[in-house]
Amino acid sequence: MIKPDAVRAGNIGNILQMVNQAGFRIVAMKYLHITKTQAEKFYEVHKERPFYGELTEFMSSGPIVAAILEKDNAVSDFRKLIGATNPAQAEEGTIRKLYAASVGENAVHGSDSDENAAIEGNFFFSGLEQF
Ligand code: ATP
Ligand code: MG
Repeated sequence: MIKPDAVRAGNIGNILQMVNQAGFRIVAMKYLHITKTQAEKFYEVHKERPFYGELTEFMSSGPIVAAILEKDNAVSDFRKLIGATNPAQAEEGTIRKLYAASVGENAVHGSDSDENAAIEGNFFFSGLEQF
């Protein structure tokens, strides 16, 4: 996902270009504004964390870009491309180093396993929308 902060800052194009140049194939993509309830469902694994309310408020604060990306080693390679959760600790040249402002508003989301990538992809896209 491209999160609401990066959309508001006009960075959709820059981020998609980095994703393309890193060799990911786009399987599905859409631009949408999720509700707080939908954000709570998406981030249910973080329900007990102290930042859950802030995170779901933020993720429903404006439109996002959701996408399914395909590549060998996609999960780990995408995490390398996006950088550390906290942009202050993200490596030079990563998406979060370039475009994220804080640990809460950190420009992009990446799945943390193949299993969760499948669950998250199916959260946003029907089979007919995946190519
Ligand atoms: P994401 O799942 O969004 O790709 P991540 O895997 O790097 O990020 P997680 O630990 O899964 O990090 O946390 C999910 C999201 O919750 C983070 O991207 C961030 O937006 C938010 N978050 C994490 N830690 C904090 C925190 N200490 N304070 C505020 N928000 C946080
Ligand atoms: Mg995560």
